[in-house]
Amino acid sequence: MKRNHIAGEWVDGRTAADNINPSDTRDVVGLYARADAEQAAEAIAAAHAAQPRWAASTPQQRFDALDAVGSELLARRAELGDLLAREEGKTLAEAVGEVVRAGQIFKFFAGETLRTGGELLPSTRPGLSVEITREPVGVVGIITPWNFPIAIPAWKIAPALAHGNAVVFKPAENVPASAWALAEILSRAHLPAGTFNLVMGRGRDVGEALLNDARVSAVTFTGSEATGRKVAQACIGRRGPMARFQLEMGGKNPLVVLDDADLEVAVNCAINGAFFSTGQRCTASSRLIVTDAIHDRFVAAMVERMKALVVGDARDARTSIGPVVDAGQLQQDTDYIDIGRREGARLAFGGEKRETVDGKPGFYLQPALFVDTHNGMRINREEIFGPVASVIRVRDAEEALATANDTEFGLSSGVCTTSLKLASHFKRHLQAGMVMVNAPTAGVDPHVPFGGRKGSSHGPREQGRHAAEFYTTVKTTYVAP
Ligand code: NAD
Repeated sequence: MKRNHIAGEWVDGRTAADNINPSDTRDVVGLYARADAEQAAEAIAAAHAAQPRWAASTPQQRFDALDAVGSELLARRAELGDLLAREEGKTLAEAVGEVVRAGQIFKFFAGETLRTGGELLPSTRPGLSVEITREPVGVVGIITPWNFPIAIPAWKIAPALAHGNAVVFKPAENVPASAWALAEILSRAHLPAGTFNLVMGRGRDVGEALLNDARVSAVTFTGSEATGRKVAQACIGRRGPMARFQLEMGGKNPLVVLDDADLEVAVNCAINGAFFSTGQRCTASSRLIVTDAIHDRFVAAMVERMKALVVGDARDARTSIGPVVDAGQLQQDTDYIDIGRREGARLAFGGEKRETVDGKPGFYLQPALFVDTHNGMRINREEIFGPVASVIRVRDAEEALATANDTEFGLSSGVCTTSLKLASHFKRHLQAGMVMVNAPTAGVDPHVPFGGRKGSSHGPREQGRHAAEFYTTVKTTYVAP
C-alpha cells in the first residue's frame, strides 16, 4: 500500500482505497491510504512546526531542493507519464507532456528563489526610508482536482515551497498515484521533516480539516465551483484568523470562429480545445461560436475530423481520445447529452457510450458535437467537463463577442480570424483571464499567469512571477537612521 507522508515519515491511513484504471476497470493501479480529519491535523501540526526552519533556509537551499525535483520529474517523464495515463485516462502523449510541464514548473520556481527581492523607496517624510519585503505566508493547504494530477499539484507546491512556506497537500481521491509519486520525489529533496506533507483522503474529511484549522494560513484550491464556494465560506467562517484563499474553478470557454478565419486553423483549434484530454480541461472550448458564412463549412469539417478520432485505451499509441475519468463523470456527460437533446439541440456527431474497447471495460465516450444550439441552453451555460461541445450560430462578429461574454465564467477564450483589426478587438473585449488568437483555448505556458475572471476564479493568479502574490505576504518597514 502507498502511504501518506507526514512529518517526514510514511504512515498508514485510517482506511485505504483502490485506484482504478478508467481504460480497463479490471486493472487496479494500486492501493492508496486514506487519512481522516485527525490525521490531517497531525500533518498540519508537523507543517506548522517545520515552517519557521524552512522560512529561514537560504535561497540556495530552496533552489537545490526544487531544482532536484524538477530534474527527476523530467528524467522520469516516460514512467510517470505512463502512470498518469493509467490512472487518469488522458493519452500517453498528453500525460508525458503533463509530467514535463510539472518538471518545468519546479525548475522555474527553483529560479524564483534566487530572484525574489524587495523595494527600497524614499519616504514622503524627512529622514525616513521605506522598505517593501515579501515574507512567507506560513502553512499552505493545497487541494487539487483529478484532471491534471501532477501539473496542478506542481504549480501549487513549487511556489509554496519556493517562497518559504510549509505544505499540506490533499490530492483528489481518484488520482492518488501521480500525487504519491511526486510526494515520494519531494521526500528525498532534503526538506526539513514536516515541510512537505501528503495527506490522501476525502474532501469532507481531509479537505475540511485543512479549511477549518487556524494553523493553516492559506488555502489554494482548484476544482468545481460548488466546492470552491464551500472553501471560501469555510476560510472566512472558521474560528481564529481567516485563511487567505485562492480558487480556480470551472469554465464555459468560448472559441469564436469568424467568417474570415482559416478553416483548417479553426478546426484544429476546436478539435484540440474541445476534445483533447477527453474534454476534461477547465480551459476546454465547450462553446464554439461561429458566424453565419463559415458555419456550415466549419460543422462539416468538424464532423470529418471527429470521424477520424480514435477513442480507446489511454496507453495505446493509436488512441487520440482516452476514456472519461470515472463512472460518475461519465454519467454527468451522458446526462448533459440527454439534456441537450431535450433542449432541442441536434447531435451532428458522437455522444455514444461504449462499454468496452478491444475487450477492455472502461468509461468510453465518443466525442459529441451539438449543433442548432443557442447560448441560453443549459449545455451552453453549465460546465459539462467532458468531450461535449456545442456550435452556436451567430450573425456577425459583434453578436459573437456578446455571446462569448454572456456567461458566468471567464477563464479562457479564443478567436479565429485572419483580420488584425478583429483580433485586436476581441483581445481587448473578451472578458476572460486568458485570450487565444488562432490558438486553442486550452494549452498554456508554465511561466506566465494562469487564471480567470467572474465565476471561474477568485484571488491572485497562479504561476509565473505572479504566484508570489498568493504565496507571500508583503511587509512595509519604515526606517529612521
Ligand atoms: P471537486 O470540486 O469535486 O474536487 C476538487 C478537490 O476538492 C478534490 O481534492 C476534492 O476532494 C476536494 N473537496 C471536495 N469537497 C471538499 C470540501 N467540502 N472541502 C474541502 N475540499 C473538498 O472538483 P473535481 O471534480 O476534482 O475537478 C473538476 C473541476 O475542477 C471542474 O469544475 C474544473 O473546471 C475544475 N478545474 C479548474 C481549473 C482551473 O484552474 N480553473 C483547473 C482544473 C480543473
